[in-house]
Amino acid sequence: MMSSGTPRGRFAPSPTGELHLGNLRTALVAWISARQVDGSFIVRMEDLDRVTSSRRHEQQQLADLASIGIDWDGEVVRQSDRFDVHRDAIATLQRLGALYECFCTRREIRESAQAPHGLGEGLYPGTCRELTAAAAAGLRDAGRPPALRLRAEATIVQIDDAVAGPFEGIADDAVVQRNDGVPAYHLAVVVDDADQGVSEVIRGDDLLSVTPQQVVLQRRLGLPTPRYGHVPLVLAPDGSRLAKRHGAVTLADLAARGHGPTAVRALLLASLGVGDETALDLAHLARGPWQLTADQL
Ligand code: GLU
Repeated sequence: MMSSGTPRGRFAPSPTGELHLGNLRTALVAWISARQVDGSFIVRMEDLDRVTSSRRHEQQQLADLASIGIDWDGEVVRQSDRFDVHRDAIATLQRLGALYECFCTRREIRESAQAPHGLGEGLYPGTCRELTAAAAAGLRDAGRPPALRLRAEATIVQIDDAVAGPFEGIADDAVVQRNDGVPAYHLAVVVDDADQGVSEVIRGDDLLSVTPQQVVLQRRLGLPTPRYGHVPLVLAPDGSRLAKRHGAVTLADLAARGHGPTAVRALLLASLGVGDETALDLAHLARGPWQLTADQL
């Protein structure tokens, strides 16, 4: 645990592919934000998904970060090395009576979420929340392994986001353990950030809407809530979320077109409206997504 008041930022990619301009841009904001106040900065590999994660992608991602000038303190930690710590946290929540078994498939959730239920859009519809022990046993006997969800009690959470400003959302019942027994993302991210002493979480704004469930998890586990800053995503010329299929979106692609890492770094800073990176002000970052033009790809 962090003992002093030194700020600590982090970048926590999933090593499931090459980083694209959007990931690199977020990483750069996180790094500048930490370093400009002499804070420390760590990189954590979120390799919970053992099928899609690879060491090759890890190495490539780290090399790409380094080439645009991002450095980090200490060893890069892998979430897959920390399952014991995650399981301890799950056991704590279980002892508190804060979890329930959920047998729903994604498809069932999608279908029942379409029925009117008066909850916020996209929230778990609560199918398994009040299952009787007998019903749960029946499902288990039928060969359906349960995931574990947190009883978030539809708590309304307010976040003062350093980039997006004030945000309020309903905490969904986060899955804390997947139905294959692996600790789930929401649990791992909350436990690892706290354990690694992370005081500032800068990440893509696709995660802003799930932050309330992470905050409720922190509260149940007695962990501090870091400062959050959710950076707008990068969009492709067609307005969809940037992906590999859109063209030259990785450092390797861009280098092949004659744009080296220094030029990419300058492009990313310009896209953020940051002239002088020693004076990055999260509250004044360019708001809204950065939409690339066809000639940039
Ligand atoms: N590992 C997540 C991702 O690559 C990011 C999680 C986070 O920053 O909290 O999308």
